[in-house]
Amino acid sequence: MNYFQRFLIKPGSKVQLSDIDPDFRNGHESKKDALKIIERNNLRLRELQELLYAEHKRSLLICLQAIDTGGKDGTISHVLGAMNPQGCRVASFRQPTSLERDHDFLWRAHRDVPAKGEVTIFNRSHYEDVLVVRIHNLAPKATWLKHYNQINDFEKNLSENNTHIIKFFLHISKDEQLRRFKERLDDPTKHWKISATDYTDRTRWDDYITAFDDMLSECSTKHAPWFVIPANYKWFRDLAISQIMVEYLEALHMKCPPPSVNIEQIRKKYHSAKKKA
Ligand code: AMP
Ligand code: MG
Repeated sequence: MNYFQRFLIKPGSKVQLSDIDPDFRNGHESKKDALKIIERNNLRLRELQELLYAEHKRSLLICLQAIDTGGKDGTISHVLGAMNPQGCRVASFRQPTSLERDHDFLWRAHRDVPAKGEVTIFNRSHYEDVLVVRIHNLAPKATWLKHYNQINDFEKNLSENNTHIIKFFLHISKDEQLRRFKERLDDPTKHWKISATDYTDRTRWDDYITAFDDMLSECSTKHAPWFVIPANYKWFRDLAISQIMVEYLEALHMKCPPPSVNIEQIRKKYHSAKKKA
């Protein structure tokens, strides 16, 4: 089975993250072997992105969601960073600014969606409005409950306008998160990443999992599928995401656009070897 099918959340299915093993490695034993595959996929990803750019017909939106330390930043630098920055950018979703708060919750997402030929990576996304907003009661239940349908409608609208959407949820265990927090603590160059809410949010772990389960169950659609990526092993996470990206983009059968000039005429006029008399 290809990676796309294996990690896809089938639209309409009821997800329970507790049934999905975050240690899964699909039989891969070592980081060394994985790196070879990741490197190959990344080269192909760059070629496919160039085709998307050249075609200038459609765009690609990649959403990354995970619990703290889940690996969003690592995924961006190790896999998605393989793409050419000309045509690819990252939009990070933090606490809304006052301007953003004065609009509907999808306004800031829509503002940052990719134009034709471009790729945008959402580091966190509009899904924060059914996650942190739900868990910290930042809006009444009646409000965030409506967000699932509003998000599905928004994504459908984008897809009908030639934006392809792929959404990755990075799945780590509670123990792995603690290990990664400790790693940050032990590495002074990572101290800037530690926030006051990291440890208090951990006490809400089960609530986060419930919110993730609902997000994945309600919002994996044919036009904007969710993938749950086992992410305790960073190298397997990178392997799976690079593989899915390549499978997805290859299935689009993109073609180089035809030239806008007469190639033969140019060849004859400027490149034919004339012997001097
Ligand atoms: P980081 O990704 O570590 O820079 O943290 C960004 C923080 O902003 C996270 O704690 C998010 O949960 C939070 N955040 C993102 N979107 C929202 C939102 N719509 N409402 C409240 N907090 C948000
Ligand atoms: Mg953080």
